[in-house]
Amino acid sequence: MAVAFLDFERLHQNEFQKQVIDRFTEIVKTNAFVEGKYNAMFEKEFANMQNTKHCLLVANGTDALEISLKVSGVQTGDKVGVPGITFYASAEAIVNVGAIPVLIDVDPLSGLISPSSLKNVLENHRLKAVMPVHIYGLPAPIGEIKHIVKDLDIAIIEDGAQACGTILDSGPCGSSGNLTTFSFYPTKNLAAFGDAGAILTNDDSKVEMIKSIRNHGRGEHPIIGRNSRCDHLQAAVLHAKLETIKNENQKRKEIAKKYHEGLKNFPVHILHDKFIETSSWHLYPVRFNNKDEKQRMQQHLSQKEIGTAPFYDLAMHHFPALMNCEGDKEFAQQFAGTVLCLPMHPHLEDREIAEVIQAIKEFY
Ligand SMILES: *Cc1c(COP(=O)(O)O)cnc(C)c1O
Repeated sequence: MAVAFLDFERLHQNEFQKQVIDRFTEIVKTNAFVEGKYNAMFEKEFANMQNTKHCLLVANGTDALEISLKVSGVQTGDKVGVPGITFYASAEAIVNVGAIPVLIDVDPLSGLISPSSLKNVLENHRLKAVMPVHIYGLPAPIGEIKHIVKDLDIAIIEDGAQACGTILDSGPCGSSGNLTTFSFYPTKNLAAFGDAGAILTNDDSKVEMIKSIRNHGRGEHPIIGRNSRCDHLQAAVLHAKLETIKNENQKRKEIAKKYHEGLKNFPVHILHDKFIETSSWHLYPVRFNNKDEKQRMQQHLSQKEIGTAPFYDLAMHHFPALMNCEGDKEFAQQFAGTVLCLPMHPHLEDREIAEVIQAIKEFY
């Protein structure tokens, strides 16, 4: 039987659909189409949940990164460190504010940003900011990065787009004291019915500036802003999902544990057990010895109608617009193209997990 990579039907069950439609009807009647009461409710409750002082909703996760770079003082020509393995938007946001991405290499086992590479890059580059990414939902080594950049006047902006459910040393993603961004794109753990994003911060002084930028520079700050408001409809969906997200993220951890147990004796490389409780398991990546083995596995699973995704086939410096980026690339180069993400969503059933494991066993 087919095993889907994601399953929106099981995620958006009847009761939830009804709740959302009731809220939509309410919004249509009150004509509060942007930044309504659900925006305020979500911002307050999500900040609490992530153990941070402020949450500011914006239009999407990429805007959240761009606005975070701006309020960190990143300007045209400044250099910003970004890992060589991430979703394209992380680097894109840096270029969009006129800054220059400098590539930080990754841990060859996890794909997470490497603190030792950051140290190395800092010998040749003056960075204005660094953007650790909690890739796949794994906790990036924020403590080590903080230690490296302290006294250097380098802002840390955490890309937490995949990290709703991730546990850092300081607590949930957003609790570290750094600016942290989220995306609520429909495939993320906590997801809208379209685009939305957020910036989390403990810094009172940044709040008014973020509010002003997201709404055309309105307020007391005489600055150039943009339109990055979050629709009330999206906030209403997100707020409704806060009831179930903890439970869903817990289920992802249980599913990851089952995959781990089922796959540990095969030649496929799974992540270290230490991540079971700390990753959000936005994705469940497994790594192969080389690209060829990955491709053959992908075909094998596809023939069995098992949905997989090759995140990430390209390292940042493989993209034409980023080809000339400086920095460390060795391990990102090796890592890219060797990973397949297996079906992962909170409603994945035991028989489906068993089927995926059985199919991988057959391959070997
Ligand atoms: C999804 C994602 C983004 C971008 O979010 P959008 O809401 O699509 O703009 C940025 N970084 C990472 C790591 C992501 O996974």
